[in-house]
Amino acid sequence: MSADGVSGQSRVLKVLAEFLSSDRVPQTLLFHGPAGVGKALAAGEFAAALLCEKPPRGGARGCGACASCAAFAGGRHPDFIRVDAAYQACLRQEELAKQKSLRIGTVREARRAMETSAILGGRKVAVVEDADGLEIEAANALLKILEEPPAGAVWILTASRRERLPKTVLSRCAAVAFAPLEDQTVKRILIERGVGAAAAAAAAKDAGGSAGRALDLAHLGYPRALVAGAAAPADASDSLGPDLPSARTQAELALFAVRQELWRGWKEGRTPLAEVSRALDAVRELGESLRANVDPKAVVLLACLEARKAAS
Ligand SMILES: [Zn+2]
Repeated sequence: MSADGVSGQSRVLKVLAEFLSSDRVPQTLLFHGPAGVGKALAAGEFAAALLCEKPPRGGARGCGACASCAAFAGGRHPDFIRVDAAYQACLRQEELAKQKSLRIGTVREARRAMETSAILGGRKVAVVEDADGLEIEAANALLKILEEPPAGAVWILTASRRERLPKTVLSRCAAVAFAPLEDQTVKRILIERGVGAAAAAAAAKDAGGSAGRALDLAHLGYPRALVAGAAAPADASDSLGPDLPSARTQAELALFAVRQELWRGWKEGRTPLAEVSRALDAVRELGESLRANVDPKAVVLLACLEARKAAS
């Protein structure tokens, strides 16, 4: 989130530090909150602290100096697994781009690895990123792990759409809530990542407290005329980037902007609530179809029509 670790989540860091200093670390944790606010980064830092030989008191990070921290920083800690698309691609010996969601075999493999004894003699830690995107069989396999984690093992799940996780999984985890970031924090993070001050301020303003979204906005942008209602729908969809991943990200940003604009329209008394609700439902469905690989151009075209209909 920043060159110097997690930013703008002091409440969360306090809770994690408390777990560590009291030596009462829950074996199954869920880091949940909006996308792009530092959940994955915090999970990595907390994992390093859990594995550290002498974690500094009052903090939620490793000491940065011991053998465990050195191995962690080098990406070769034998008692740590990050269960994500890259891990699955490696297991399946497939391209990274082909990993749409985490599968049952991947979760089972992680479980097997976590059941062996710790090589460095401390804990074993697994971070399951975007657990809300697991295939149903994979989520069930994960539930079995969460029901009876072996002693010394800590599982940290991250999720930006908590409501998508099965209730049985939710009930097994200690939930740690991440809040949207302040605009000033988002701006500072962008500047630290090399974005100019003016562009960083503009992106932070439109990002709804998500540094990840602000970075995408600063680098890719989205068809802004779509929200203003001035663009011809075909022009808005044609302005998306030529490659699919960029176009998909831009379409997601556009849907977010349309949702924000719809809420603004209601707050400012321009659009009746019933109309806003109808349009929000339509935009949510468009978001689902985008995740199900519908052409981003078609999604933006339809979002443009929804934005116009709601504004008229
Ligand atoms: Zn250390």
